[in-house]
Amino acid sequence: MYSVVLLDLLSSKKLENLRKRAKEEIKLRGYTDHLNSDLSNESNFLPINEITGDYCPTWRYSWIKKFVKNPKKQITWPILQGRIIDNVYEKIIEYSSDSINNVKLEEMDLKKQLERNKQKIMEGVKKEIKKELRKINNAPKEEEIKNFIGNINKIIEFEHSICLALLSFKMSTKKDLRIRSEIKILFPISIKQKINGKDLGFSGSSEPDFLYREDVVGEIKSGGWRESFKLTCAAYALAYESEYNRDIDLMVIINPSFSKKRKTPLQENFTFEIISDVYRKAVFTRRDERIELIKKGNDPGTPKKDEKCIDCQYYPFCWGRKNGKK
Ligand code: SF4
Repeated sequence: MYSVVLLDLLSSKKLENLRKRAKEEIKLRGYTDHLNSDLSNESNFLPINEITGDYCPTWRYSWIKKFVKNPKKQITWPILQGRIIDNVYEKIIEYSSDSINNVKLEEMDLKKQLERNKQKIMEGVKKEIKKELRKINNAPKEEEIKNFIGNINKIIEFEHSICLALLSFKMSTKKDLRIRSEIKILFPISIKQKINGKDLGFSGSSEPDFLYREDVVGEIKSGGWRESFKLTCAAYALAYESEYNRDIDLMVIINPSFSKKRKTPLQENFTFEIISDVYRKAVFTRRDERIELIKKGNDPGTPKKDEKCIDCQYYPFCWGRKNGKK
């Protein structure tokens, strides 16, 4: 997530313009507009990821979660990879903040400390893969696991190098420095802040991956790029506006991909963008459609073919023998 800070520094003019445009363009806010949905029955509410996600072609996913007791589940290699990547970004911030906060300035060797943090994160990743691998059907080949671990290494080194450069620069420009206060200004990132979206029909506490400068919603997404990632950001922004009565205007999505020709992750869609009314309205439309589905309680069934279901956790339930699909 330190790359978000660098993106801000490198495109500060653009960000300033986006902020101005957002104030003129956005009309739909979480604190004023809930549009038409019937939100009288909390038991029909759904979590944000189920409202905005488009991984289930028939939306059966939410129906299963609401109405099926102990459905048969699976963990797949893509699910595990996504979970690990999410966690790695969080650990990068957590460990480096601890390192910076707990060491006196005169004793600080940030490069060494970050290297130690990297080792710690990598050990955790390897342990988790080892633990979860036996639960996975069609476990990946050793080569694939090795590649994935190499990609995690790229993410950590990339983020650490930005942290090191920015902090070293700051330390070199100020004689009097209170490092704890300084990092809060330099890295204004809040991780997984809980937001209550009940007034908008979102169940549970919502939790964007991060908030940047308190007006940018940030999400970390693995796998290929999907436009629905933007809807997730919009839903978090609406929830935040509803709870805090404050505007959230922008979003940024970290969706790393990897190439053998690069030592860094590729972040092709990495840019600040306005959370426009188009996305906001789409969130409300999907919410209404999905709440309606839950209200009726009918099983939407599976799609005709299972090709989009292979990596879903409910694959064994939807396509197992009990349901007569195989
Ligand atoms: S297995 Fe397919 S139909 Fe069933 S919940 Fe998952 S994506 Fe939806």
